[in-house]
Amino acid sequence: MSKTALLMDFDQALERFDPVLGLEVHVELSTNTKMFCSCSTTFGGEPNTQVCPVCLGLPGALPVVNEKGVEAAIRIGLALNCEIAEWCRFSRKNYFYPDMPKNFQTSQYDEPIAFNGYLDVAVPTDEGVMPFRVLIERAHMEEDTGKALHQGGATGRIHGADYSLLDYNRAGIPLIEIVTKPIVGAGRYAPEVAKAYVAALRELVKSLDVSDVRMDQGSLRCDVNLSLRPTPQDRFGTRTETKNVNSLRSVERAVRYEVQRQAVILTDGGKIIQETRHWHEDTGLTTAGRVKEEAEDYRYFPEPDLVPIAPSREWVEQLRASLPENPALRRARLQAEWGITDHDMASVVNAEALDLVEATIAAGADQAAARKWWLGELSRIANERGLGLEELAITPAHLARIEALIADGALNDKLARSVIEGVLAGEGEVDAVIAGRGLALVSDDGPLLAAIDAALQAQPDVAEKIAAGKLAAAGAVVGAVMKATRGQADAAKVRRLLFERLGVSE
Ligand code: ADP
Ligand code: MG
Ligand code: ZN
Repeated sequence: MSKTALLMDFDQALERFDPVLGLEVHVELSTNTKMFCSCSTTFGGEPNTQVCPVCLGLPGALPVVNEKGVEAAIRIGLALNCEIAEWCRFSRKNYFYPDMPKNFQTSQYDEPIAFNGYLDVAVPTDEGVMPFRVLIERAHMEEDTGKALHQGGATGRIHGADYSLLDYNRAGIPLIEIVTKPIVGAGRYAPEVAKAYVAALRELVKSLDVSDVRMDQGSLRCDVNLSLRPTPQDRFGTRTETKNVNSLRSVERAVRYEVQRQAVILTDGGKIIQETRHWHEDTGLTTAGRVKEEAEDYRYFPEPDLVPIAPSREWVEQLRASLPENPALRRARLQAEWGITDHDMASVVNAEALDLVEATIAAGADQAAARKWWLGELSRIANERGLGLEELAITPAHLARIEALIADGALNDKLARSVIEGVLAGEGEVDAVIAGRGLALVSDDGPLLAAIDAALQAQPDVAEKIAAGKLAAAGAVVGAVMKATRGQADAAKVRRLLFERLGVSE
């Protein structure tokens, strides 16, 4: 079977069809222990060292619900404006799971812990930002499966592999699955709506501090459902479900691709098969997976070994009251406080520097300076070292101190970069680095005037030019003084002293 399908031009496809989206997002919670046992959830352990009879599904083992997992589920539900069930149960989803030896996943079926919510997102379009409300069907609790490693093949996939290894460390780690209602009305912006939704959801869950939400590491995974219908008045068409789309950009690309692929099939009078499809990050294609089961095929039934969950209304209200500020509202508030443009705010957010910039300002720095250091020098260094900004060994307090010294004329940008280098190298706090490296600016007039005189003597024509009104010639003297002081002079001050010396006013 050929792996490449014919695609219709996207705009043409949108003239003929109305897309309907459905997004399923799995969030892996960062609880210390698994959902139904006390095994560790730490990432990267030796295979099968974080397992026990419960998560291996050995006969007779009894699961117990992790309260922190339930709490995280409720907080996510509340942040998504959902109703919280007064009473709900877990269900067994029966299937052949090589990576889950009990052969069922403990999930929730018709009794999710949270349901009927919405998330407002801002969708960038050609006509500006379009507000769009995505309705949430449900958010339910379940557990992750283990991991199968397919060895010997070229692709890491099961096809062509010689053998497979199974690691159950991940089996039983709590997941929250968040499912949208069918998303209609997005029209030609369906790809952008999908991406904006996942981005907003990720930001929201991150603000709750219940998950790492790292798409690249699989702690946030997205499945994209898509169908086409001739017009918005028609019934929904048959959907495909593209699995594990693991970057925001790919969410957008996967939607676009499925629109283009399905449009050709439907235009040719063909039928869409309800199936899962694999997203290929490298080629940007989807290929057919398995024909999708109907829910009945899983033979869901209530989990007999777990008590129902009945969160008290007091607890729910307590959790509601302790929710952090909605991140979208917080962004809008900070942007207004700082008085910066949408574009500048987007740069801060894209650099994942919002918290750091806010904290640097709170520590006393000017907003423009705080943004400049985090988005410039520090982003560059973090990038070079393959680290996140938060992982750099420099704090907002360090930067605020550096900024204060710049404002006092004790440091210039060049020296500040050297201070940053020293702090990152573990040479101590800002003042200790300055002392240790001898970085303070030469601030006494005496040595500066001596250096100016020396420069004027070495370049006698400069004084004449300046006297004749060619003030740009001052650059040569300032440069010479900077060189003589090994960069440790305040250039503006040198310029001022030079003009004073020559009796010229600027
Ligand atoms: P499954 O168990 O097959 O994954 P879910 O109900 O968990 O089903 O998720 C299906 C997703 O697809 C939901 O977001 C739902 O709103 C959406 N959806 C349902 N029908 C359609 C359709 N015809 N076209 C596009 N999306 C759909
Ligand atoms: Mg599903
Ligand atoms: Zn266990």
